[in-house]
Amino acid sequence: MNYYLIAPAKTFRQDENQLTYESEQVFKTGQIVEIPLGRQTTLGIITKKVAKPDFATKAILRSLYDTPLPTHLVKALLWLSDYYRCPLSSVVQAALPRGITKNRRKNLAAEQNELFEPNAENPLSAAQKRVIKELTENPANTLLLHGITGSGKTNIYIELTKRTLTSGRSVILLVPEIALTSQLVLNFRRHFKRVTLLHSEQTEAIRHQLWEQTLENDQPQLVIGPRSALFAPVKDLGLVIIDEAHEPAYHQDQNPKYSALRLASQMAKTILGTATPLIADYYICKQHNAIISLDELAIKSATNTNISVIDLKKRADFTRNRFISSPLIESIQQSLDAGEQSLIFHNRRGTAPMTICDQCGWQALCPNCFLPLVLHADSYKLRCHTCGFTTTVPTACPECKNASIHHKGFGTKLIEEELKKLFPRAKIGRFDADTSADEKLDKVYQAVRDGNYDILIGTQMLAKGFDFPKLSTLGVVQADAGLSLPDFSSEERTYQLLSQVIGRANRGHRDSRIFIQTYQPEHQIIKNATSGDYLGVYNYLLKLRAAAKLPPYTFLLRLTMTYKTEAATVKNIQALFKKLRQFATSEKLSQIAITPPMPAFHEHNNSGYTWQIVVKAKSRKDLIKIFDQAEKSQYLHYDFDPYTLL
Ligand SMILES: [Zn+2]
Ligand SMILES: [Zn+2]
Repeated sequence: MNYYLIAPAKTFRQDENQLTYESEQVFKTGQIVEIPLGRQTTLGIITKKVAKPDFATKAILRSLYDTPLPTHLVKALLWLSDYYRCPLSSVVQAALPRGITKNRRKNLAAEQNELFEPNAENPLSAAQKRVIKELTENPANTLLLHGITGSGKTNIYIELTKRTLTSGRSVILLVPEIALTSQLVLNFRRHFKRVTLLHSEQTEAIRHQLWEQTLENDQPQLVIGPRSALFAPVKDLGLVIIDEAHEPAYHQDQNPKYSALRLASQMAKTILGTATPLIADYYICKQHNAIISLDELAIKSATNTNISVIDLKKRADFTRNRFISSPLIESIQQSLDAGEQSLIFHNRRGTAPMTICDQCGWQALCPNCFLPLVLHADSYKLRCHTCGFTTTVPTACPECKNASIHHKGFGTKLIEEELKKLFPRAKIGRFDADTSADEKLDKVYQAVRDGNYDILIGTQMLAKGFDFPKLSTLGVVQADAGLSLPDFSSEERTYQLLSQVIGRANRGHRDSRIFIQTYQPEHQIIKNATSGDYLGVYNYLLKLRAAAKLPPYTFLLRLTMTYKTEAATVKNIQALFKKLRQFATSEKLSQIAITPPMPAFHEHNNSGYTWQIVVKAKSRKDLIKIFDQAEKSQYLHYDFDPYTLL
């Protein structure tokens, strides 16, 4: 008889992750099997062969595939569960495709045998060649490729991918959102015949079949997809490339909660490519001499970019329109006359973000989330941007019955209306999350790429992954809008977004004029973003982080509790706080700070009231010790290394 330790896809006890099973058959580590668990059957992954235990064991029912999951993947799953203290069952579930036990008719095209497109050229500049040499020779496991927008990071990715595949090892390329990076994907497709592309629009059946093909293929493979593509069962993973590595999309905020950057570096050599690295990543890579910079444009030309900062407080500049300054209007007109494009950014969707009664102060809030409802004037509906709740606009106040309902603030739909009035003959397009709900996203992308619009208005979606060859005017309606969020990462996010937006114009195709409208022209972040000074921002934020004992100087743990009533939440979280503080004192954990309980940013929603405690620790070990004191229940939620504390 053989005995195996198995990680089931179902939770069976709070404090245990694995169970021992027996079988007459010999299995390999990583094989996926069906096992009895309680009165049900479930799936599990064999993690280890073990000696005969001194307790009775149940028998493995069957194995699903002869091919086991690759060793690097099994190790990574165990690491993830341990490092983030999340149930191993949730990790196993995330790693296996849905409907894996179903028998499906194969309807995928037969696999290509050829890996490379034979005639694809990938010309490299001297600077790019230098970077490739440095990336290849640097012994660090995680490397930061700090390359400005337009420096040709894609060419570098392609070259490194070719080399890794040629050496017989697999490559996973992570992208924040597959549709938004389709130019990157197209570039890869020009060079590689056999690419496994994973994305959220695929059906369960397609995903299952792609996963199966990957598992059963013993050739080196190239997989492109979002963070979950790390779970693709490729043989001998040699390299993970993470494009736009600063993006929040690489943090999964549901169980299993993890950072794809940390997980990737457990699996293989990892390259983080970005123009605006997260402060903490830059700090860590700097300590390991693992930063490689590329600050030369791939397409060099003699074009000029002129950046003007416009103070929103100086209303003399806003005589023609209340949101769009006169210099920006003139520049758009100039671009129109020359047959060129203009891009206008505003990071707020809809028409107006607030609907209130001037008489009694009533505000339209979502009944599920208790967040302000946003007016969408085109459909004349109020919409919640968090849960999608939609309702009609009241004609009178539901509280005081006065006809005194007003809409405050402004979003992209209002900007669109204003621009249509200013430029009635221009072809104007809007591009944000509402566009994708209304129209086929691919069509809009194609129209954007083909240059079918004179003026484009959009949120940050528009700032990502696009190249606009005909662009000559770029305007940011309110650059400091994100700075007011009470979170440690809001300045960093604002810098990233502004840099990305400015990078759209800064690609050396033609002369361009950039207008940054802001209430805070003297703010360090606005100044550094307009001058493209990453190190300026880095040094500024690092000082703030040190003073506030925030990452990279500490590890963070956020504990939240949610109960139906506010009283229950307060009572329970205060008890937890007391317990943790007493433990820290008795264990003499000095390099630790536990903030007293406070309401979460989104304090109240349909499931109740949420309060939070933030624990900061110099060492991750201490953080885990503290965490282990908290009693696990359905009321407690936790987040290691949170990306934001909102
Ligand atoms: Zn009222
Ligand atoms: Zn809602």
